[in-house]
Parts: sequence; structure tokens; C-alpha cells
Amino acid sequence: MKYYSLNHNAPKVSFQEAVIQGLASDKGLYFPETIMPLGEAFFETIENLSNEEIAFEAIKQFVGDEIPENILKEIITETLCFNFPVVMVEKDIYSLELFHGPTMAFKDVGARFMSRCLAYFNRDKKDNKNTVLVATSGDTGGAVASGFLGVKGVDVIILYPSGKVSDIQERQLTTLGQNITALEVDGVFDDCQDMVKKAFLDADLKDKNLTSANSINIARWLPQMFYFFFAYKALKKQNKPLIFSCPSGNFGNICAGIIAKKMGLPIEHFVASTNVNDTVPRFLENGTYAPKPSKTTISNAMDVGNPSNFIRIQEMYQNDLKQFKKDFSAFTFSDEETLEAMKYIYNTDGYIAEPHGAVGYLGLKKELQNHENAIGIFLETAHPIKFLDTVEPTLNIKLPIPPQIESVMDKEKVSIKIKTYEDLKAFLQK
Ligand SMILES: *Cc1c(COP(=O)(O)O)cnc(C)c1O
Repeated sequence: MKYYSLNHNAPKVSFQEAVIQGLASDKGLYFPETIMPLGEAFFETIENLSNEEIAFEAIKQFVGDEIPENILKEIITETLCFNFPVVMVEKDIYSLELFHGPTMAFKDVGARFMSRCLAYFNRDKKDNKNTVLVATSGDTGGAVASGFLGVKGVDVIILYPSGKVSDIQERQLTTLGQNITALEVDGVFDDCQDMVKKAFLDADLKDKNLTSANSINIARWLPQMFYFFFAYKALKKQNKPLIFSCPSGNFGNICAGIIAKKMGLPIEHFVASTNVNDTVPRFLENGTYAPKPSKTTISNAMDVGNPSNFIRIQEMYQNDLKQFKKDFSAFTFSDEETLEAMKYIYNTDGYIAEPHGAVGYLGLKKELQNHENAIGIFLETAHPIKFLDTVEPTLNIKLPIPPQIESVMDKEKVSIKIKTYEDLKAFLQK
């Protein structure tokens, strides 16, 4: 499989090259040259397949022959080492729980898959290390740190906005040590992301073999399509149209869902649910894509002013705004609405949603008004414990600490403070 740059000014590359480079030389995101439907037989018999078998069928065309089948299967088995329950919250409303992994964030899947692909591509290299550079608004950092911990031939450097991630999130990315370093940036998430993008294009850093582990990297982004197949498998026998609502920040997750639909997965409609960082909802309303600096909210993993994957979604619709709007809606919600939704879901349904999931729930409810007889699924992208500062006082409950989190609570935070791109560059060059 070849990948082309969405800026159309760089050579086409293999899966391996796209994973190692992250971003194309013309600053464009990579996109697969073809997306082949999986065929009816696959969907007709999906309930007989394990998650690993489904994932293998879904991803193999994107990897091609660059990783041998048996190794790709091993990578998938190690990636999917936990469950993806579909939990009924209300009649015809389900939560797809993506938070049962090692860092209790849905990004565990992408991070685990990517790190193992990179380790495979580095298998014969002696001292030619890759450096993974990643900006995080919250959960990416912890998932990447955990996913890459101890992976041979890869150093991981994580940039996060100082004071803008939760205590648990910060611990998850600053306490691991080994090949993981955390840089604490005096700024917001967009500053971190800009620094990372700049470093990739800096000729002085060419010899550092920098790559990204944000959802701009295809090996982080594509495996997220698995979730939609798993939910379909769980709900198929109800034989109703499916509407997915994704709490969206960089729009990688929802974009992977749209790829799954292109591969034939019967999804009726997507809802991108955002907090007040509403660049995409505004685009759908007035047709102008006008990014804004990000605003801080209680759903901080979605505090993104210029969602990097939106261009991939636009690529799939080729400016056909009519078809796009038929498949896709986007709604924005304030922190107040999010808190109200969390209380409602808890008091009425007995379900604990954290702020990102609650934003997803709100978008889903709004869209379902336009679809009779459909089933709605919102993606619950983090465990409530990761946002306990919001969840506990809002719901007036005390959450037990799961073992995955317990293990980082008493470890010492180690970070290096930086302010500017020059600080980052100096660190990388030393
Ligand atoms: C990253 C993240 C999101 C947003 O996902 P995107 O793919 O960037 O749209 C939502 N919720 C949580 C908890 C996250 O960590």
C-alpha cells in the first residue's frame, strides 16, 4: 500500500516510510492511496470472529506485505490485550467503553500498535535510533509513554502544556523513566503541537530520525477503526441503523470511523461532539474553516483549535458538502452543559460518564432526534478516574482507584521545563 501527502507535493511512500516519517516532507498528512471494501461475507459472519481476527482483516490492506502476516497478527494480539464493552445506558443508547487498557485511555490501542510496528521496522538497526516526538493535550502522552516503554531503538519525548492536564494524566507521562522523557511546556496544547511540527521540518534535526506518535501518524491513527467494527459486532443482531458520536479533538478517532464506513461497515451517521473548541461545528454551519486558538475546558483532551485530522475527512468527501452533511454532523457543548449531562446520566441511568464521554452523549442525543428507530453509540474515551477532579464533586461520589492508576500514584514526577522552540531544539541536539 502506498500513501500520498495531502499537500500533494511529496513522493508517495510505503507504509513503513509513512510510519517512520510521520509527516510528509511538504508538511502534508499521509493518506492511503486506496480503501478497499471488505466484502459482504465478512460483515455477514463478523459475529463468529474474534476481535483479533476482525482487526487483522481490517488493517491488513493498509500494511500490505511490509510486515509478515504472522508478525502482524502478534502485533494485533499484543495491541488488543483488553476488552471493549458496549454498555447499555438508556433504551437504544450505548456507551462503547474504550478505557480498559493499560492507561485507561482509548489511545492505548493506537500507541501500542504503532510502537510495535516501529520496533519491527527497527529490528535490524544497531545504533540508529528513532526519536518519537509527541505533543499531548492529556491522554496521548500517557498512552504513548506506556505503549513505547522499553521498546528497543526508540526514544520518546513528550511535550505537554504545564498545568493543563489532570494530576493522574501528568503522573502517567512523567513517572515512567527508561526511554521516556517528559517536557513541560509553558503554554497551551497548540504551542506544544506547533513546536513538534516545527521540529519535524527543521533541517538541523534531520539526523535525529524524528517521528510523531500523534494521530497524524498513520500507525497511531488507523487502528482506531477497530472500535467501530467491534461495536457493530456487538449490536448487529438488533438490525437497526447505527449512529456513532465521537467526542472529538484532533478528529483522528472519528476519521478512522469514516474509513471503516468506506470499507463497508454499515454506519448510518457520525456525530462529532466537541467542547467549546468548535472549529468543525462552525465549518458545518457556515462553510468556512477558521481555526482559533484552543480554549481550556473540563474535557481537556479535546482542547484543540485546529484539528489536524480534519483534512483527512475532507479528502474522503472531496468537497462534496452535501454528501458530507448527510453522513456527518458536528455539535458543540459548553462545560456547564457537560456537567449537567454527567449528572443526568448518573442520576437517571446510573452510569458514570467522564466529561469527554458526556460531550459524546450530548451530541448523540441531539442527532438521534433526526433518526427514528436508530441505535446510538457514544464513545467513552477515558475512565472516569482520569478526570476525578471533575467527576467526584459533580456526581458527589468517591471513585475506587483501579490498579492501572494505583501503580503510578506514588511515583515521583520527573519533567524538564521548556518555554520556546529553541529550548526544544537545544534539548534534542544535546
Ligand atoms: C484524544 C482524546 C479525545 C479526542 O480524540 P481525537 O481522535 O483527537 O478526536 C477524546 N477523549 C479523550 C479522553 C482523549 O484522550
